[in-house]
Amino acid sequence: MSVSEPLIGGLHSPAELLLRDVHVLDPRSRLDARRDLRVRAGEIVELAEPGALAPAQDGGEEELIEGHGRLRLMPAFFDPHVHLRTPGQEHKEDLDSGTRAAAAGGFAAVIAMPNTDPVLDSAPLLRSLRDAAAREARIPVGFLPAITRGLQGEQLTEMAELRQEGALGFSDDGKPVQSAGMLRRALQYQRLCGGVLALHEEDKTLSHGGAMHEGAVSAALGIAGIPTVAESTMLARDAALAGYEGARVHFQHLSCVASVEAVADAKARGWRVSAEVSPHHLLLTEQDVRGMDTRMKMHPPLATEADRLALIEGLRSGTIDCVATDHAPHARDEKEVPFEQAPMGSTGLETAFAALYTGLVLPGIIDLALLVERMTAAAALFELPTASIATGEKANLVLVDLDATWVAGEHGWESRSENCCFAGRKLQGRVLLTLAAGAVAHRDRALSLVGA
Ligand SMILES: [Zn+2]
Ligand SMILES: [Zn+2]
Repeated sequence: MSVSEPLIGGLHSPAELLLRDVHVLDPRSRLDARRDLRVRAGEIVELAEPGALAPAQDGGEEELIEGHGRLRLMPAFFDPHVHLRTPGQEHKEDLDSGTRAAAAGGFAAVIAMPNTDPVLDSAPLLRSLRDAAAREARIPVGFLPAITRGLQGEQLTEMAELRQEGALGFSDDGKPVQSAGMLRRALQYQRLCGGVLALHEEDKTLSHGGAMHEGAVSAALGIAGIPTVAESTMLARDAALAGYEGARVHFQHLSCVASVEAVADAKARGWRVSAEVSPHHLLLTEQDVRGMDTRMKMHPPLATEADRLALIEGLRSGTIDCVATDHAPHARDEKEVPFEQAPMGSTGLETAFAALYTGLVLPGIIDLALLVERMTAAAALFELPTASIATGEKANLVLVDLDATWVAGEHGWESRSENCCFAGRKLQGRVLLTLAAGAVAHRDRALSLVGA
């Protein structure tokens, strides 16, 4: 089936750059060494020993950045799960602000969820959103239209037609597909028209009314809880259905031990499943909810330390394939209400790398190459090319100062919303420059200080 190019958008100003003596880390090619690298017309054209490349004689266009052997150059990240809030909720985020936030976090592409207003569930709406992305998005964006019309769980969308229009797959994110029969039909269509079904796993009959993880902290605070089995039983059900139908599914935002075990079991059986985990589930627990800060209220809720450790182990072993931010912007007045009434979700694009570097790499829990692999792996899960640092490749690159420390949010955010669960935390590792699809999509103000 011929489909429209699934990623759309990005700046139309191909970069001309010489990055001299940067420490290149590309986990897939196992390149981990100091190099000079030249980008011309947005493409990596030369990769050489440090000091080997001289500034272009002819080119007044070329920008020179000195890495002093210290700045890291890595493949730019890919986020398979963000909420850009357009159409309909542009007071929270839009294509421009959301992709600015992504570029500031080192991402060269993101996949947007369909729980907008109206819901992205028809080919005409997908077409108009893609037209808008072509004009407004700083980095390429892919879209997952809804599995069911209006996210109502009652009627499938026109999946084949949506695929023709460039849908990367489908998701009812924000809601589960509650009916097994409905999901089964979606899986059968998935097999016919391709793409990935990305599933938000939650049994509403178990989670209904809950505002946080059901456990010791919810009991102490007197807040109604959501048991982890609300996620894990639904995930196990859907894995079995996908296995039965031979369909391809991706499990969104895993949050607990039992879900990691269910994914491991599904993979061991050879079922076509993959999974993602968010930085907040890897770094925070129900203990962080004790202060009833609404930025700590997310879906699925932060669970226990045992759950967090299982997620880290799942990411390390590959049971969990990739990191996804589930960037979920909400306006200040929406979050500044009592905990039970606040909407669920945290922004995450601008802090993902630094939070995980600070929380997992610096203490020696996982290594940097693995983190970069897991922050870039989602592209392949959605059958897209993976960013790679080699000559002939389009420049999808992130330049990072691993020594720089910063306080999250102290200079504001690129995102239109500020409901970040890591706000106020001191983080180490700062994105200085992001190239997406060959163009400079983000440049940190600190770059002029360190890169001269
Ligand atoms: Zn979700
Ligand atoms: Zn989401």
